[in-house]
Amino acid sequence: MLVKEYLWCPAYAWLSWNGPPLRAPPHVEVEYTLSPLEASLLAEALGHVGHLVAEARLYSPRLRVYGRVDYLVEPGRGGAGAVLEVKARGAWGGGGHQEAQAALYAIMAEDQYRRPFEAYIVSQLEVRRVPRAARAAALRALRGLRRALAEPVPPRPGHGGSQCRSCAYRRVCPWARLPSTL
Ligand code: SF4
Repeated sequence: MLVKEYLWCPAYAWLSWNGPPLRAPPHVEVEYTLSPLEASLLAEALGHVGHLVAEARLYSPRLRVYGRVDYLVEPGRGGAGAVLEVKARGAWGGGGHQEAQAALYAIMAEDQYRRPFEAYIVSQLEVRRVPRAARAAALRALRGLRRALAEPVPPRPGHGGSQCRSCAYRRVCPWARLPSTL
């Protein structure tokens, strides 16, 4: 699933799929981890009591999408399940791409468990509940991603080039705007 990457930069998603095997993130991240115990306690504080699955693999046959979320809390008695996506930082770059990724995980979990799920983004700075509106944005992005990946060349990015500074593909991307051209 490259929805987050697609929303960050469509060309980055294309190059991740079709380009040379450089899987470095588009920015430098500070290490941040959430232990299973911490995740379980956090989920409980958020009202989600159920079996915790780390690195939970998700698949939606309806959407034909695979994904792996950092933590999934299976729905308990009558309650909603939860997906927790752990990030090094808070809502960097506006956070819309992070929200779309987490929202898609929640949709996939609902397809898999046939129960309601909530999505959260967890960082050192905040615990952010992903709004329901992010689901529509995630599905739109998924459609756009599919179209983009089918193209023979990387799609033109809609951003002004600030992402290019630390992008692992800047040396091979035809749309790269390197520091001297920004
Ligand atoms: S170099 Fe810039 S335009 Fe190309 S993939 Fe990276 S961020 Fe996107």
